[in-house]
Amino acid sequence: MNDCVFCRIAAGEAPAAKVYEDDTLCAFLDIRPIARGHTLVIPKRHAAELAELDAELGAQLFRAGHRLALAIRRSSLAADGANLVLNDGAAANQTVPHVHLHVVPRQHRDMLRLAKGFLLRRPHDPVSTAAAIREGIAAVDEAGKSPGKHVDG
Ligand code: 5GP
Ligand code: ZN
Repeated sequence: MNDCVFCRIAAGEAPAAKVYEDDTLCAFLDIRPIARGHTLVIPKRHAAELAELDAELGAQLFRAGHRLALAIRRSSLAADGANLVLNDGAAANQTVPHVHLHVVPRQHRDMLRLAKGFLLRRPHDPVSTAAAIREGIAAVDEAGKSPGKHVDG
């Protein structure tokens, strides 16, 4: 049995509040978020660190993070911005050895709330938060603004 928790989430064998999934990637809420809507994007195929990750898969991973950053602005979370962060290796504070891209929603002047989020890392109603992000993704797709999506005219 695979003892990698993110592989198990990708395979649907461990629970997670998923917001996006395709054949190669999935995205789900961080279990200990630093802000409401803190999401992780992972390749479904196991790669512990960037050195093991196929470059094309890395590009797809970032494209999904790009799309999520647009989606959280459009969603009812109404983010004003996002931090996209990838901790590569234990030296960089990577604690789960399966490559993942953090997408952290940000608001103008949210430093105090973010500092509190860092300390508490409490989930914020994962069901409604994941639903809000999925709606944001649908809105981005509808507007034809998905990264990598060609729009005529
Ligand atoms: P890292 O420090 O490796 O970049 O971040 C790992 C992240 O994974 C942390 O923010 C942590 O809260 C999150 N995490 C760890 N285990 C689980 C889990 O079982 N489920 C989910 N959804 N997130 C997890
Ligand atoms: Zn894994």
